[in-house]
Amino acid sequence: MRIARACRELGLGTVAVYSSADDSAHHARYADDAVWIGKPSARDSYLNPAAIIDAAQQTSADAVHPGYGFLADNADFAEMCEAAGLAWVGPSPEAIARAGDKAVARELAREAGILIVPGTIGTVRVDEGLAVAEEIGFPTMVKAAAGGGGTGIRVARNAHELREEFTAAAREARAAFGNAGLYVEKLIIRPRHVEVQVLGDQEGRVVHLYEREWSVQRRRQKLLEEAPAPAIDPATREQMADAAVRLSASLGYTSAGTIEFIVDAEGAFYFLEINTRIQVEHPVTEMLTGCDLAKEQVRIAAGEPLSFAQADIPRLGAAIEFRINAEDPDSDFRPFPGRIAELELPGGPGVRVDTAIYEGYEIPPFYDSLLAKLIVWGRDRNEAIARGRRALQKFRIGGIKTTIPFHLRMLDDEAFQAGDYHTEYLTELGVA
Ligand code: ADP
Ligand code: ADP
Ligand code: MG
Repeated sequence: MRIARACRELGLGTVAVYSSADDSAHHARYADDAVWIGKPSARDSYLNPAAIIDAAQQTSADAVHPGYGFLADNADFAEMCEAAGLAWVGPSPEAIARAGDKAVARELAREAGILIVPGTIGTVRVDEGLAVAEEIGFPTMVKAAAGGGGTGIRVARNAHELREEFTAAAREARAAFGNAGLYVEKLIIRPRHVEVQVLGDQEGRVVHLYEREWSVQRRRQKLLEEAPAPAIDPATREQMADAAVRLSASLGYTSAGTIEFIVDAEGAFYFLEINTRIQVEHPVTEMLTGCDLAKEQVRIAAGEPLSFAQADIPRLGAAIEFRINAEDPDSDFRPFPGRIAELELPGGPGVRVDTAIYEGYEIPPFYDSLLAKLIVWGRDRNEAIARGRRALQKFRIGGIKTTIPFHLRMLDDEAFQAGDYHTEYLTELGVA
Protein backbone atom coordinates (compact mmCIF):
# COMPACT_ATOMS: atom_id res chain seq x y z
CA MET A 1 0.00 0.00 0.00
CA ARG A 2 2.76 2.39 0.96
CA ILE A 3 4.67 1.82 -2.25
CA ALA A 4 1.59 1.89 -4.48
CA ARG A 5 0.67 5.24 -2.95
CA ALA A 6 4.14 6.62 -3.71
CA CYS A 7 3.94 5.35 -7.30
CA ARG A 8 0.50 6.84 -7.80
CA GLU A 9 1.80 10.26 -6.78
CA LEU A 10 4.65 9.83 -9.26
CA GLY A 11 2.18 8.92 -12.00
CA LEU A 12 3.42 5.32 -12.21
CA GLY A 13 1.20 2.25 -12.58
CA THR A 14 1.47 -0.57 -10.03
CA VAL A 15 1.06 -4.34 -9.96
CA ALA A 16 0.47 -6.14 -6.65
CA VAL A 17 1.35 -9.77 -6.05
CA TYR A 18 -0.74 -11.83 -3.65
CA SER A 19 -1.06 -15.35 -2.27
CA SER A 20 -4.31 -17.33 -1.95
CA ALA A 21 -4.49 -16.18 1.69
CA ASP A 22 -4.49 -12.55 0.48
CA ASP A 23 -7.06 -12.57 -2.30
CA SER A 24 -9.19 -10.16 -0.30
CA ALA A 25 -6.24 -8.10 0.92
CA HIS A 26 -6.43 -4.36 0.35
CA HIS A 27 -3.12 -4.04 -1.50
CA ALA A 28 -4.30 -6.40 -4.22
CA ARG A 29 -7.35 -4.19 -4.83
CA TYR A 30 -5.58 -0.87 -4.54
CA ALA A 31 -2.90 -1.54 -7.16
CA ASP A 32 -3.75 -1.04 -10.84
CA ASP A 33 -3.25 -4.74 -11.47
CA ALA A 34 -2.79 -7.82 -9.28
CA VAL A 35 -1.20 -11.20 -9.98
CA TRP A 36 -1.70 -14.36 -7.93
CA ILE A 37 1.66 -15.93 -7.10
CA GLY A 38 0.84 -19.07 -5.13
CA LYS A 39 -0.37 -20.77 -2.00
CA PRO A 40 -0.58 -19.18 1.46
CA SER A 41 2.67 -20.59 2.80
CA ALA A 42 5.28 -17.86 2.20
CA ARG A 43 7.65 -20.37 0.65
CA ASP A 44 5.06 -21.03 -2.05
CA SER A 45 4.39 -17.36 -2.81
CA TYR A 46 6.07 -14.32 -1.25
CA LEU A 47 9.39 -16.14 -0.84
CA ASN A 48 9.32 -17.56 -4.38
CA PRO A 49 11.50 -15.29 -6.55
CA ALA A 50 10.54 -17.03 -9.82
CA ALA A 51 6.81 -16.44 -9.26
CA ILE A 52 7.36 -12.74 -8.56
CA ILE A 53 9.60 -12.23 -11.59
CA ASP A 54 7.03 -14.08 -13.71
CA ALA A 55 4.32 -11.72 -12.48
CA ALA A 56 6.50 -8.72 -13.38
CA GLN A 57 7.14 -10.03 -16.88
CA GLN A 58 3.51 -11.00 -17.51
CA THR A 59 2.46 -7.43 -16.75
CA SER A 60 5.44 -5.76 -18.52
CA ALA A 61 6.58 -4.11 -15.30
CA ASP A 62 9.77 -2.03 -15.36
CA ALA A 63 10.84 -2.35 -11.75
CA VAL A 64 10.41 -4.41 -8.59
CA HIS A 65 10.02 -2.80 -5.17
CA PRO A 66 10.55 -5.47 -2.51
CA GLY A 67 8.90 -3.62 0.38
CA TYR A 68 10.29 -4.42 3.84
CA GLY A 69 9.36 -8.06 4.39
CA PHE A 70 10.28 -11.40 2.91
CA LEU A 71 12.79 -10.95 0.05
CA ALA A 72 13.46 -7.27 0.78
CA ASP A 73 17.08 -7.76 1.76
CA ASN A 74 17.83 -10.79 -0.36
CA ALA A 75 20.81 -10.17 -2.64
CA ASP A 76 20.06 -13.20 -4.83
CA PHE A 77 16.56 -11.96 -5.54
CA ALA A 78 17.88 -8.48 -6.38
CA GLU A 79 20.32 -10.07 -8.79
CA MET A 80 17.61 -12.22 -10.38
CA CYS A 81 15.47 -9.14 -10.95
CA GLU A 82 18.32 -7.28 -12.61
CA ALA A 83 19.19 -10.32 -14.75
CA ALA A 84 15.56 -10.38 -15.90
CA GLY A 85 15.85 -6.75 -17.02
CA LEU A 86 13.85 -5.37 -14.09
CA ALA A 87 15.10 -2.33 -12.19
CA TRP A 88 15.60 -3.18 -8.52
CA VAL A 89 14.28 -0.55 -6.13
CA GLY A 90 16.97 -0.93 -3.49
CA PRO A 91 20.74 -1.02 -3.09
CA SER A 92 22.86 -3.05 -5.51
CA PRO A 93 22.99 -6.83 -4.97
CA GLU A 94 26.70 -6.45 -4.04
CA ALA A 95 25.91 -3.85 -1.36
CA ILE A 96 23.10 -6.02 0.03
CA ALA A 97 25.38 -9.06 0.17
CA ARG A 98 28.24 -7.24 1.91
CA ALA A 99 26.07 -5.31 4.35
CA GLY A 100 23.72 -8.24 4.95
CA ASP A 101 26.46 -10.40 6.43
CA LYS A 102 26.60 -8.89 9.90
CA ALA A 103 30.14 -10.14 10.54
CA VAL A 104 31.38 -8.59 7.27
CA ALA A 105 29.52 -5.35 8.05
CA ARG A 106 31.35 -5.13 11.39
CA GLU A 107 34.65 -5.25 9.52
CA LEU A 108 33.53 -2.59 7.06
CA ALA A 109 32.48 -0.35 9.93
CA ARG A 110 35.80 -0.85 11.69
CA GLU A 111 37.66 0.01 8.50
CA ALA A 112 35.56 3.18 8.23
CA GLY A 113 36.83 4.17 11.68
CA ILE A 114 33.59 3.45 13.55
CA LEU A 115 33.51 1.82 16.98
CA ILE A 116 32.04 -1.68 16.84
CA VAL A 117 30.86 -3.73 19.81
CA PRO A 118 33.96 -5.59 21.08
CA GLY A 119 33.94 -9.17 19.80
CA THR A 120 35.25 -11.59 17.21
CA ILE A 121 36.60 -10.65 13.82
CA GLY A 122 34.35 -12.38 11.32
CA THR A 123 32.49 -15.61 11.99
CA VAL A 124 34.16 -18.13 14.29
CA ARG A 125 34.02 -21.69 15.52
CA VAL A 126 33.10 -22.33 19.12
CA ASP A 127 36.67 -22.54 20.47
CA GLU A 128 37.72 -19.24 18.97
CA GLY A 129 34.44 -17.68 20.11
CA LEU A 130 35.13 -18.86 23.62
CA ALA A 131 38.69 -17.51 23.60
CA VAL A 132 37.47 -14.07 22.50
CA ALA A 133 34.61 -14.12 25.02
CA GLU A 134 37.10 -14.80 27.81
CA GLU A 135 39.25 -11.94 26.60
CA ILE A 136 36.43 -9.36 26.40
CA GLY A 137 34.62 -10.77 29.44
CA PHE A 138 31.15 -12.25 29.96
CA PRO A 139 28.25 -11.77 29.49
CA THR A 140 28.41 -12.04 25.72
CA MET A 141 26.04 -12.48 22.82
CA VAL A 142 26.23 -15.19 20.19
CA LYS A 143 24.81 -13.84 16.93
CA ALA A 144 24.03 -15.25 13.52
CA ALA A 145 25.91 -13.47 10.71
CA ALA A 146 22.81 -13.83 8.52
CA GLY A 147 20.41 -12.92 11.36
CA GLY A 148 17.50 -10.50 11.36
CA GLY A 149 14.24 -9.79 13.16
CA GLY A 150 15.77 -10.82 16.50
CA THR A 151 16.34 -14.42 15.36
CA GLY A 152 19.66 -16.20 15.95
CA ILE A 153 20.72 -14.05 18.91
CA ARG A 154 21.58 -15.66 22.25
CA VAL A 155 23.04 -14.51 25.55
CA ALA A 156 25.86 -16.47 27.20
CA ARG A 157 26.90 -15.65 30.77
CA ASN A 158 29.80 -18.09 31.06
CA ALA A 159 31.88 -20.60 29.13
CA HIS A 160 29.42 -23.42 29.64
CA GLU A 161 26.49 -21.34 28.37
CA LEU A 162 28.53 -20.12 25.43
CA ARG A 163 29.16 -23.70 24.27
CA GLU A 164 25.46 -24.54 24.62
CA GLU A 165 24.16 -21.37 23.01
CA PHE A 166 26.62 -21.76 20.16
CA THR A 167 25.10 -25.08 19.18
CA ALA A 168 21.54 -23.81 19.59
CA ALA A 169 22.18 -20.56 17.69
CA ALA A 170 23.87 -22.42 14.82
CA ARG A 171 20.88 -24.74 14.52
CA GLU A 172 18.43 -21.83 14.64
CA ALA A 173 20.42 -19.82 12.09
CA ARG A 174 20.72 -22.72 9.67
CA ALA A 175 16.95 -23.35 9.84
CA ALA A 176 15.96 -19.68 9.52
CA PHE A 177 18.60 -18.35 7.11
CA GLY A 178 20.32 -21.40 5.60
CA ASN A 179 23.60 -20.10 7.04
CA ALA A 180 24.99 -21.24 10.39
CA GLY A 181 27.84 -18.66 10.60
CA LEU A 182 28.13 -17.12 14.08
CA TYR A 183 30.08 -14.33 15.75
CA VAL A 184 30.49 -13.30 19.37
CA GLU A 185 29.95 -9.81 20.75
CA LYS A 186 30.09 -8.26 24.20
CA LEU A 187 26.68 -7.85 25.81
CA ILE A 188 26.04 -4.18 26.47
CA ILE A 189 24.03 -3.81 29.67
CA ARG A 190 20.80 -1.80 29.52
CA PRO A 191 21.63 -0.33 26.12
CA ARG A 192 19.56 1.91 23.92
CA HIS A 193 18.97 1.24 20.26
CA VAL A 194 19.42 4.18 17.90
CA GLU A 195 19.54 3.99 14.10
CA VAL A 196 20.29 6.48 11.33
CA GLN A 197 18.30 6.73 8.09
CA VAL A 198 20.41 7.17 4.97
CA LEU A 199 19.64 7.71 1.28
CA GLY A 200 22.12 7.36 -1.56
CA ASP A 201 21.70 8.02 -5.28
CA GLN A 202 23.41 6.40 -8.25
CA GLU A 203 25.76 9.35 -8.62
CA GLY A 204 27.44 8.56 -5.30
CA ARG A 205 25.73 11.19 -3.15
CA VAL A 206 24.75 9.99 0.33
CA VAL A 207 22.72 11.96 2.86
CA HIS A 208 21.32 11.10 6.30
CA LEU A 209 17.86 11.94 7.59
CA TYR A 210 18.74 11.86 11.29
CA GLU A 211 18.03 9.11 13.75
CA ARG A 212 15.23 7.07 15.28
CA GLU A 213 15.20 5.20 18.58
CA TRP A 214 13.42 1.93 19.24
CA SER A 215 14.50 0.90 22.67
CA VAL A 216 10.92 -0.15 23.51
CA GLN A 217 11.16 -3.72 22.29
CA ARG A 218 10.03 -7.24 23.11
CA ARG A 219 12.03 -10.31 22.09
CA ARG A 220 14.44 -7.88 20.38
CA GLN A 221 11.61 -6.76 18.10
CA LYS A 222 10.23 -3.27 17.83
CA LEU A 223 6.95 -2.11 19.33
CA LEU A 224 7.36 1.63 19.34
CA GLU A 225 9.83 3.91 17.59
CA GLU A 226 10.47 7.59 18.01
CA ALA A 227 12.57 10.50 16.79
CA PRO A 228 14.53 12.41 17.86
CA ALA A 229 16.16 9.74 20.03
CA PRO A 230 15.88 10.74 23.70
CA ALA A 231 19.06 8.68 24.24
CA ILE A 232 21.53 11.02 22.55
CA ASP A 233 22.75 14.60 22.81
CA PRO A 234 23.34 16.94 19.85
CA ALA A 235 27.07 16.16 19.63
CA THR A 236 26.42 12.39 19.56
CA ARG A 237 23.66 12.90 16.99
CA GLU A 238 26.14 14.61 14.70
CA GLN A 239 28.86 11.99 15.18
CA MET A 240 26.46 9.12 14.66
CA ALA A 241 24.98 10.61 11.50
CA ASP A 242 28.46 11.29 10.19
CA ALA A 243 29.52 7.68 10.89
CA ALA A 244 26.42 6.38 9.08
CA VAL A 245 27.10 8.48 5.99
CA ARG A 246 30.77 7.50 5.92
CA LEU A 247 29.98 3.80 6.16
CA SER A 248 27.26 4.01 3.48
CA ALA A 249 29.53 5.94 1.14
CA SER A 250 32.31 3.38 1.59
CA LEU A 251 29.83 0.68 0.51
CA GLY A 252 28.73 2.63 -2.58
CA TYR A 253 25.28 2.50 -1.02
CA THR A 254 22.24 3.53 -3.07
CA SER A 255 18.55 3.79 -2.11
CA ALA A 256 17.22 3.86 1.46
CA GLY A 257 19.06 2.13 4.28
CA THR A 258 19.45 2.12 8.03
CA ILE A 259 22.64 2.00 10.06
CA GLU A 260 21.92 0.61 13.52
CA PHE A 261 23.88 1.51 16.64
CA ILE A 262 23.73 0.53 20.26
CA VAL A 263 24.33 3.20 22.91
CA ASP A 264 25.72 2.22 26.31
CA ALA A 265 24.86 3.74 29.69
CA GLU A 266 27.77 6.20 29.34
CA GLY A 267 26.47 7.45 25.99
CA ALA A 268 29.16 5.82 23.82
CA PHE A 269 27.77 4.34 20.60
CA TYR A 270 28.80 1.20 18.73
CA PHE A 271 27.91 0.00 15.26
CA LEU A 272 25.45 -2.93 15.28
CA GLU A 273 24.32 -3.69 11.73
CA ILE A 274 22.97 -2.34 8.43
CA ASN A 275 19.41 -2.87 7.18
CA THR A 276 19.48 -2.70 3.39
CA ARG A 277 15.84 -1.74 2.81
CA ILE A 278 13.17 0.73 3.75
CA GLN A 279 12.02 -0.05 7.28
CA VAL A 280 8.67 -0.42 8.92
CA GLU A 281 9.33 2.69 11.01
CA HIS A 282 10.33 4.99 8.12
CA PRO A 283 7.24 7.24 8.62
CA VAL A 284 8.78 8.56 11.86
CA THR A 285 11.54 10.09 9.75
CA GLU A 286 9.07 11.30 7.12
CA MET A 287 7.12 13.19 9.80
CA LEU A 288 10.25 15.02 10.99
CA THR A 289 11.81 15.78 7.63
CA GLY A 290 8.85 16.06 5.26
CA CYS A 291 10.68 13.70 2.90
CA ASP A 292 8.76 10.91 1.14
CA LEU A 293 11.27 8.06 1.44
CA ALA A 294 9.34 5.59 -0.72
CA LYS A 295 9.10 8.10 -3.56
CA GLU A 296 12.76 8.95 -3.22
CA GLN A 297 13.61 5.23 -3.53
CA VAL A 298 11.67 4.94 -6.78
CA ARG A 299 13.31 8.07 -8.21
CA ILE A 300 16.77 6.81 -7.28
CA ALA A 301 16.08 3.45 -8.94
CA ALA A 302 15.11 5.37 -12.10
CA GLY A 303 18.59 6.94 -12.05
CA GLU A 304 17.49 10.37 -10.86
CA PRO A 305 19.72 12.30 -8.47
CA LEU A 306 18.55 12.96 -4.89
CA SER A 307 16.00 15.76 -4.99
CA PHE A 308 17.64 17.58 -2.04
CA ALA A 309 21.02 18.19 -0.42
CA GLN A 310 21.98 17.47 3.19
CA ALA A 311 21.59 21.13 4.18
CA ASP A 312 18.01 21.18 2.82
CA ILE A 313 16.74 18.43 5.12
CA PRO A 314 14.77 19.90 8.01
CA ARG A 315 14.23 18.17 11.33
CA LEU A 316 11.13 19.53 12.93
CA GLY A 317 9.41 18.47 16.17
CA ALA A 318 9.01 14.92 17.47
CA ALA A 319 7.28 11.79 16.14
CA ILE A 320 6.32 8.41 17.57
CA GLU A 321 5.19 5.27 15.73
CA PHE A 322 3.05 2.69 17.51
CA ARG A 323 2.92 -0.76 15.97
CA ILE A 324 -0.64 -2.02 16.18
CA ASN A 325 -0.23 -5.79 16.05
CA ALA A 326 -2.82 -8.56 16.20
CA GLU A 327 -1.34 -9.78 19.48
CA ASP A 328 -2.51 -10.14 23.05
CA PRO A 329 -0.27 -7.88 25.16
CA ASP A 330 -1.64 -9.49 28.34
CA SER A 331 -0.62 -12.93 27.19
CA ASP A 332 3.04 -12.53 26.22
CA PHE A 333 2.15 -10.85 22.91
CA ARG A 334 0.70 -14.07 21.51
CA PRO A 335 -0.51 -13.65 17.90
CA PHE A 336 -4.27 -13.16 17.70
CA PRO A 337 -5.56 -13.61 14.15
CA GLY A 338 -9.28 -13.31 13.45
CA ARG A 339 -11.91 -11.15 11.79
CA ILE A 340 -11.96 -7.34 12.11
CA ALA A 341 -15.52 -6.96 13.34
CA GLU A 342 -15.35 -3.20 13.76
CA LEU A 343 -12.85 -0.54 12.75
CA GLU A 344 -12.61 3.10 13.73
CA LEU A 345 -9.49 5.05 12.77
CA PRO A 346 -8.24 8.18 14.52
CA GLY A 347 -7.51 11.40 12.65
CA GLY A 348 -6.91 15.08 13.29
CA PRO A 349 -3.73 17.17 13.49
CA GLY A 350 -0.41 15.34 13.52
CA VAL A 351 -1.94 11.89 13.06
CA ARG A 352 -1.06 9.41 10.29
CA VAL A 353 -2.38 5.86 10.01
CA ASP A 354 -0.71 3.43 7.59
CA THR A 355 -2.78 0.28 7.27
CA ALA A 356 -4.44 -2.09 4.84
CA ILE A 357 -7.16 -3.49 7.11
CA TYR A 358 -10.87 -2.81 6.74
CA GLU A 359 -14.08 -3.82 8.51
CA GLY A 360 -14.84 -7.46 7.80
CA TYR A 361 -11.24 -8.27 6.88
CA GLU A 362 -10.12 -11.71 7.96
CA ILE A 363 -6.49 -11.63 9.21
CA PRO A 364 -4.73 -14.68 7.78
CA PRO A 365 -2.67 -16.66 10.30
CA PHE A 366 0.28 -17.09 7.95
CA TYR A 367 2.14 -13.80 8.12
CA ASP A 368 3.48 -11.09 10.39
CA SER A 369 1.04 -9.76 13.01
CA LEU A 370 1.46 -6.08 12.09
CA LEU A 371 -1.98 -4.62 11.25
CA ALA A 372 -1.45 -0.89 11.27
CA LYS A 373 1.02 1.79 12.16
CA LEU A 374 -0.13 4.86 14.03
CA ILE A 375 2.34 7.70 13.64
CA VAL A 376 1.92 10.96 15.54
CA TRP A 377 3.83 14.20 15.24
CA GLY A 378 4.07 17.11 17.67
CA ARG A 379 6.10 20.29 17.95
CA ASP A 380 7.84 18.60 20.85
CA ARG A 381 7.84 15.14 22.47
CA ASN A 382 5.15 16.08 25.00
CA GLU A 383 2.76 17.15 22.27
CA ALA A 384 3.48 13.94 20.35
CA ILE A 385 2.73 11.89 23.49
CA ALA A 386 -0.55 13.74 24.06
CA ARG A 387 -1.56 13.21 20.44
CA GLY A 388 -0.57 9.55 20.66
CA ARG A 389 -2.80 9.09 23.68
CA ARG A 390 -5.69 10.93 22.04
CA ALA A 391 -5.37 8.90 18.82
CA LEU A 392 -4.93 5.51 20.56
CA GLN A 393 -8.04 6.14 22.68
CA LYS A 394 -10.04 6.68 19.49
CA PHE A 395 -8.48 3.74 17.59
CA ARG A 396 -10.95 0.85 17.77
CA ILE A 397 -10.34 -2.57 16.26
CA GLY A 398 -13.17 -4.91 17.26
CA GLY A 399 -13.13 -8.71 17.22
CA ILE A 400 -9.46 -9.30 18.07
CA LYS A 401 -6.82 -8.37 20.64
CA THR A 402 -4.25 -5.74 19.69
CA THR A 403 -1.28 -3.90 21.15
CA ILE A 404 -3.31 -0.67 21.58
CA PRO A 405 -3.79 -1.14 25.38
CA PHE A 406 -0.07 -1.80 25.75
CA HIS A 407 0.82 1.47 24.01
CA LEU A 408 -1.64 3.43 26.17
CA ARG A 409 0.00 2.02 29.29
CA MET A 410 3.43 2.87 27.90
CA LEU A 411 2.45 6.51 27.37
CA ASP A 412 1.46 6.75 31.04
CA ASP A 413 4.72 5.23 32.21
CA GLU A 414 6.87 7.80 34.02
CA ALA A 415 10.19 6.47 32.75
CA PHE A 416 8.89 6.54 29.18
CA GLN A 417 7.57 10.05 29.62
CA ALA A 418 10.99 11.12 30.84
CA GLY A 419 12.61 9.41 27.84
CA ASP A 420 14.50 7.30 30.32
CA TYR A 421 14.26 3.69 29.12
CA HIS A 422 16.43 1.00 27.50
CA THR A 423 16.04 -2.22 25.54
CA GLU A 424 15.60 -4.39 28.65
CA TYR A 425 13.00 -2.08 30.15
CA LEU A 426 9.90 -4.15 29.24
CA THR A 427 11.52 -7.35 30.48
CA GLU A 428 12.41 -5.67 33.77
CA LEU A 429 8.81 -4.44 34.06
CA GLY A 430 7.65 -8.02 33.50
CA VAL A 431 5.65 -6.99 30.41
CA ALA A 432 7.54 -8.96 27.77
P1 ADP B 1 18.70 -8.19 14.20
O1 ADP B 1 19.58 -8.48 13.01
O2 ADP B 1 17.91 -9.35 14.62
O3 ADP B 1 17.95 -6.91 14.05
P2 ADP B 1 20.56 -6.76 15.92
O4 ADP B 1 22.00 -7.11 15.91
O5 ADP B 1 20.18 -5.52 15.19
O6 ADP B 1 19.74 -8.00 15.41
O7 ADP B 1 20.07 -6.65 17.42
C1 ADP B 1 18.71 -6.60 17.75
C2 ADP B 1 18.54 -6.20 19.21
O8 ADP B 1 19.23 -7.13 20.07
C3 ADP B 1 19.08 -4.84 19.62
O9 ADP B 1 18.15 -3.82 19.42
C4 ADP B 1 19.37 -5.04 21.08
O10 ADP B 1 18.21 -4.95 21.85
C5 ADP B 1 19.83 -6.45 21.14
N1 ADP B 1 21.30 -6.52 21.02
C6 ADP B 1 22.00 -6.82 19.92
N2 ADP B 1 23.33 -6.81 20.16
C7 ADP B 1 23.49 -6.48 21.45
C8 ADP B 1 24.63 -6.31 22.33
N3 ADP B 1 25.88 -6.50 21.90
N4 ADP B 1 24.39 -5.99 23.61
C9 ADP B 1 23.13 -5.82 24.07
N5 ADP B 1 22.02 -5.96 23.31
C10 ADP B 1 22.19 -6.29 22.01
P1 ADP C 1 12.13 -3.22 10.34
O1 ADP C 1 13.50 -3.58 10.84
O2 ADP C 1 12.10 -2.76 8.94
O3 ADP C 1 11.37 -2.36 11.27
P2 ADP C 1 11.01 -5.65 11.33
O4 ADP C 1 11.93 -5.56 12.47
O5 ADP C 1 9.56 -5.63 11.59
O6 ADP C 1 11.34 -4.54 10.24
O7 ADP C 1 11.30 -6.88 10.45
C1 ADP C 1 12.41 -7.64 10.69
C2 ADP C 1 12.49 -8.79 9.74
O8 ADP C 1 11.22 -9.38 9.48
C3 ADP C 1 13.06 -8.42 8.39
O9 ADP C 1 13.99 -9.40 8.03
C4 ADP C 1 11.88 -8.38 7.46
O10 ADP C 1 12.27 -8.76 6.15
C5 ADP C 1 10.94 -9.39 8.09
N1 ADP C 1 9.54 -9.00 7.93
C6 ADP C 1 9.04 -7.76 8.06
N2 ADP C 1 7.72 -7.74 7.83
C7 ADP C 1 7.37 -9.02 7.54
C8 ADP C 1 6.14 -9.65 7.23
N3 ADP C 1 5.01 -8.98 7.11
N4 ADP C 1 6.15 -10.99 7.04
C9 ADP C 1 7.30 -11.68 7.14
N5 ADP C 1 8.49 -11.13 7.42
C10 ADP C 1 8.52 -9.83 7.62
MG1 MG D 1 18.71 -5.04 13.83
